[in-house]
Amino acid sequence: MNEQSDSGYIPFNLPDIGAEEIAAVVEVLKSGWLTTGPTVKAFEAEFADYVGARYAVAVNSCTAALHLALEAAGIGPGDEVIVPTLTFAATAEVVAYLRAKPVLADCDPRDLNISVASVRAALTDKTKAIIPVHYAGLPCDLDPLRDAVKGREIAIIEDAAHAVPSRYNGRMIGSISKATCFSFYATKTLTTGEGGMITTDDPAMAERMRIMSLHGISRDAWKRFAADGNWYYEILRPGFKYNLTDIAAALGRVQLRRIESMREKRAAVARAYSDAFRDLPGVVVPGDIPGREHSWHLYVLRLDPARVRGGRDGLIAALKERGIGTSVHYTPLHLHPYYREAFGYKPEDFPAATRAYSEMVSLPLYSHMSGANVARVVGAVREVVLAAVA
Ligand SMILES: *Cc1c(COP(=O)(O)O)cnc(C)c1O
Repeated sequence: MNEQSDSGYIPFNLPDIGAEEIAAVVEVLKSGWLTTGPTVKAFEAEFADYVGARYAVAVNSCTAALHLALEAAGIGPGDEVIVPTLTFAATAEVVAYLRAKPVLADCDPRDLNISVASVRAALTDKTKAIIPVHYAGLPCDLDPLRDAVKGREIAIIEDAAHAVPSRYNGRMIGSISKATCFSFYATKTLTTGEGGMITTDDPAMAERMRIMSLHGISRDAWKRFAADGNWYYEILRPGFKYNLTDIAAALGRVQLRRIESMREKRAAVARAYSDAFRDLPGVVVPGDIPGREHSWHLYVLRLDPARVRGGRDGLIAALKERGIGTSVHYTPLHLHPYYREAFGYKPEDFPAATRAYSEMVSLPLYSHMSGANVARVVGAVREVVLAAVA
């Protein structure tokens, strides 16, 4: 389908969509039922089963998932929610949706996940939730994080936008905390174009999120136009419009069946990269940590700007000249104008994230990347870095 050429531009990311996905979408288009319906129900059941959660609620983005999870956890005005500074906009903006305050935490320089010491330092009487992000797909160290809030009414809501499939001490991400939020955005490891999922074992939370995801109207309101449905519904709360379509879910069901094999292929690319870059001077490859199984959503290489001339930006420009796309994940939130101005954050407030930001580049990584293209990236990175070391 979306095959790549071995001589042209190598994009940073390319969704792995095959004939099965296309056939499944066409089937839904022909069925006469396009929006939330039986295919979404089936996708939810299969996803819950896969990650080992009791409930899964499908939504139209991970941003929606995070918003619904925080709302269901009772987060509101005046509450504080701790989020890592090294993340995407969505993780913190959902806190503002609820008129609560996002409180940033630094990352651990070893795995770039949220630092438990930084979380401990950020805790106050107003802290009501923490949103750890499994950065790049490597699970956060959840046990010490849970210990840090033991005995307190603080919900751990995981931002697992990068983490399907990831495992922490043998347990699937999605089966561990109060709620876990996934993204099926176009670049993620399982895609529906746009989409998301929340998993939880808590029946009250699942029910609340399901109702709020569709205008706050009574259960299974999506069925009101079906043969076994009923026109009658009641509005219980002012909810949101966050439901997933059956078109998207059809894509998701096929991707879910392929998820383990796609992960294997990304892991093989990541291994090839690390084997090729481990000996490069001034370069740090992502670490393997026992007990933490990586989804390999991102491959983040770090370059010491004191040792590699031109640093990260030099490498990005040189790779671009050679037809290789890259990205940076992320400019930490505390360096963005809104967070600087609204909360007075300074670069030195989060030294590990500020430093990592200056060093990091995400290399092309996707399941159907050809061996020839992996070799091109390897050759180009080695050539550029070796020419730039002092
Ligand atoms: C992609 C992403 C999100 C948002 O996901 P959407 O499905 O686009 O809303 C949230 N958090 C992180 C860490 C992400 O990478």
